[in-house]
Amino acid sequence: MILDKEHLRKNLDEVIWNIEQARISVSEHHIVKLVTVAKYTEVENIATLYELGQRAFGENQVQQLRERMAQLEDLPLEWHMIGRLQKNKINNLIDLRPALMQSLDSLDLALEMQKKLEAKEAGMHCLMQVNSAKEETKAGVSPEAAVDTYLKIKETCPNITLKGVMTIGAHTDDAKAIQASFETTHSIFETLEKEGASVCSMGMSGDYELAIKCGSNMVRIGSALFR
Ligand SMILES: *Cc1c(COP(=O)(O)O)cnc(C)c1O
Repeated sequence: MILDKEHLRKNLDEVIWNIEQARISVSEHHIVKLVTVAKYTEVENIATLYELGQRAFGENQVQQLRERMAQLEDLPLEWHMIGRLQKNKINNLIDLRPALMQSLDSLDLALEMQKKLEAKEAGMHCLMQVNSAKEETKAGVSPEAAVDTYLKIKETCPNITLKGVMTIGAHTDDAKAIQASFETTHSIFETLEKEGASVCSMGMSGDYELAIKCGSNMVRIGSALFR
């Protein structure tokens, strides 16, 4: 559904207000970046959000990312890839030059991407995805292997610049379990800060305030903006 500007302004203001309350409860100096997840919405709504000041947008499919980047190429938007990347789409993603690829979910994928980046003499900024709730349906490196895998990618993939970690909170109504999955990822992030990690991407429409209180500094929000 195409939403009018005042409607989107109200939703955006509400989300920004909630982010603000949560981040200030952590620290005045804790800055949180909002990435709008556009996967379920029309391209017109992205353009309206841009008029309202929003700059960073995420898509979970390479194909959709490509179409939208083309449709909105006149706007100076920052595009994030946030979904599972199939190996046969790596070259397509590299050609799109996204600002941040948030879903690097295994050493195997990293090595494959490294090969293709090297061949194209290109680079990519990435987050390593952590499967913090150990859910079979979710991609990501297990919490136990996360630090080692991150360091291994840094060491073996010079064309990939790792900027931090991303996780999807536990898929449950149990706030304690969701909080535990965020705390797990944040403690991995804290270890990796010594290795230069600066982004801890966690929190979606249903759990971003909790994620921020657990230390997230990047939230990925879709449905709360487009309802
Ligand atoms: C869809 C998606 C989001 C946003 O989800 P909402 O609940 O609509 O806010 C965030 N992160 C990832 C990885 C997603 O696929």
